[in-house]
Amino acid sequence: MVCLLVETDQGPVLVDTGLGLDDYSNPTWFTQFFRVITKMPFDPNEAAINQVKRLGYKPEDIRHIILTHMHFDHCSGLPDFPQAKVHVHRREYEAFTEGKIRQFTEFAYIPRYIAHQPEFVLYDRVDSKWYEFDAIHLPFEPEMYFIPLHGHSRGHCGVAIKTHAGWIFHAADAGAVYNDETPAWVIKFVLGPHDPHLREFMKAHPEIQVLNSHMFLDFFNKKQPAELVQQSRHLR
Ligand SMILES: [Zn+2]
Repeated sequence: MVCLLVETDQGPVLVDTGLGLDDYSNPTWFTQFFRVITKMPFDPNEAAINQVKRLGYKPEDIRHIILTHMHFDHCSGLPDFPQAKVHVHRREYEAFTEGKIRQFTEFAYIPRYIAHQPEFVLYDRVDSKWYEFDAIHLPFEPEMYFIPLHGHSRGHCGVAIKTHAGWIFHAADAGAVYNDETPAWVIKFVLGPHDPHLREFMKAHPEIQVLNSHMFLDFFNKKQPAELVQQSRHLR
């Protein structure tokens, strides 16, 4: 599960929280099911709060969290950072809080992860372009944008982040661009319509580091270690 920590003019900003401590100690049936189908590691040391501490920050240093969407595996760590403002697309917040299941992926909205009533900052107005994508400027330096990629969930967005080593485009659950084994129709059914466009975009822009939320650690360990280490240093 890919979460990013971006050093900004307003302190370190988390992009997605991944699973929180509560989800590790008291997992919902959906988390248990998800563990089985994704074979993901299930170790509380992986929780964002513990990784943030390992990077030398205090949990309360995290004043802002950007969410690509509000499925539990992206936001169940919110209660570990109760002081953080939560930046999310308005359509996603409304889908989460509406309480009506309109597509099967909405079973992954678990209300208890916002029971601590965090302050939300909601976005819905496209005000920019980032390459050919509609974009919503996020109020941080370095330059960051929400890229609306609705489909996997009603208000799902990617996040583009400018680093000294070039742009990172975290496409979250809008595609499976490093997965050539899953049939395209399954990707479309589960992740929405954007995967083919993302693959074309990657070909046209090899200088941009495109990420998905569910990538095997091998990618970071083997595939492009030099670039990613360089980028993550700039991210800190
Ligand atoms: Zn999702």
